[in-house]
Amino acid sequence: LNRSLAEFGTTIFAEMSALALRTESINLGQGFPDTDGPEEIREAAVRALRDGRGNQYPPGPGVPELRLAVAAHQERLYGLAYDPDTEVLVTAGATEAIAAALLALLEPGDEVVALEPYYDSYAACIAMAGARRVPVTLRPSEGRFRLDLDELRAAVTDRTRLLLINTPHNPTGTVLTREELAAVAELAVERDLLVVTDEVYEHLVFDGAEHLPLATFPGMRERTVTIGSAGKTYSFTGWKVGWVTAPPALVSAVRSAKQFLTYVASGPFQYAVAEALALPDTYFAEFRADMQAKRDLLASGLTEAGFEVFTSAGTYFITTDIRPLGEKDGFAFCRNLPERAGVVAIPNAVFYDDKEAGAPYVRFAFCKRNEVLHQAVSRLQRLA
Ligand code: PMP
Ligand code: GLN
Repeated sequence: LNRSLAEFGTTIFAEMSALALRTESINLGQGFPDTDGPEEIREAAVRALRDGRGNQYPPGPGVPELRLAVAAHQERLYGLAYDPDTEVLVTAGATEAIAAALLALLEPGDEVVALEPYYDSYAACIAMAGARRVPVTLRPSEGRFRLDLDELRAAVTDRTRLLLINTPHNPTGTVLTREELAAVAELAVERDLLVVTDEVYEHLVFDGAEHLPLATFPGMRERTVTIGSAGKTYSFTGWKVGWVTAPPALVSAVRSAKQFLTYVASGPFQYAVAEALALPDTYFAEFRADMQAKRDLLASGLTEAGFEVFTSAGTYFITTDIRPLGEKDGFAFCRNLPERAGVVAIPNAVFYDDKEAGAPYVRFAFCKRNEVLHQAVSRLQRLA
């Protein structure tokens, strides 16, 4: 194994899902819904397959129907106009978008400032690009993980090439505030940095809040690569349909890397996702309300079981602190949780360079059927 990858081992998601299967535990680890997306969209995929749309290599940038639908979505929801031909790129999930963007935009030795805890593929892709990650740690205060704007500013050096942002944020469930995003934008403009922003949970923002795309802030559209995912938005994580929106030069760069990663993927599913993006916006409202109710169910169960629960303002994850349970090592806790309670969760420390800072935090996914969440909650009461 190449030295830049050796430190990463097996992704925690594979490891924990295997543990759940082996121990017959409820899997609140890996974030995937246990209910598939809309029936009519599954039917659209079947139709595409049957009608021979996408069964052979689709066009490199993505099928025109989907690029149009992505551009229309950005315009309709956020007032961001992107040219479907030159400013939209379809990828094999957000995962490939992240990889292609980082491989395309980074040179060996460049620094990338990323929020810590960070989604695991960020660190691996930065390493594969030969660049260096510079984490800025989100720290909890008053029930929420916050970005310290002075720390962010101090992390930028002459070698910083880009800021890698994620909002709503996995694993903390934090949604960056307008003030935090404005400060990120100001810094990017002032230091002339590129920004890659992972907004795959854009439709999972709770309590009436709205998602604020970084590209809508002053000076940002021209320097920002925005990443979205049908896996998250329509509950089809296995289809691996994601996308990038950015100005032409940046899309073209990302495409240069993408063409040698997968070239293309998910032909028939691209047509189905184009139809999903054209569903009425009530779909988003219902999806969000449904997930918010699940969040509330799991949050109150975790609180009753003795965890400190941080507010999940977005995503489908809740981060907890296990110290009130008399525990301090999230890895050990998660390793034993199947035996103690028949539940699998993710130790947030895997998303930290500073393992000590991440040690007491554990992430639970709530994108599961209500009866599954009820059962998990009742099992977790054994810990109290
Ligand atoms: N970014 C974040 C923050 C995620 O949580 C995930 C999914 N789990 C991804 C990217 C990857 O998305 P996809 O499944 O579309 O590749
Ligand atoms: N994004 C999902 C999570 O955070 C998992 C994706 C994956 O398995 N790579 O749980």
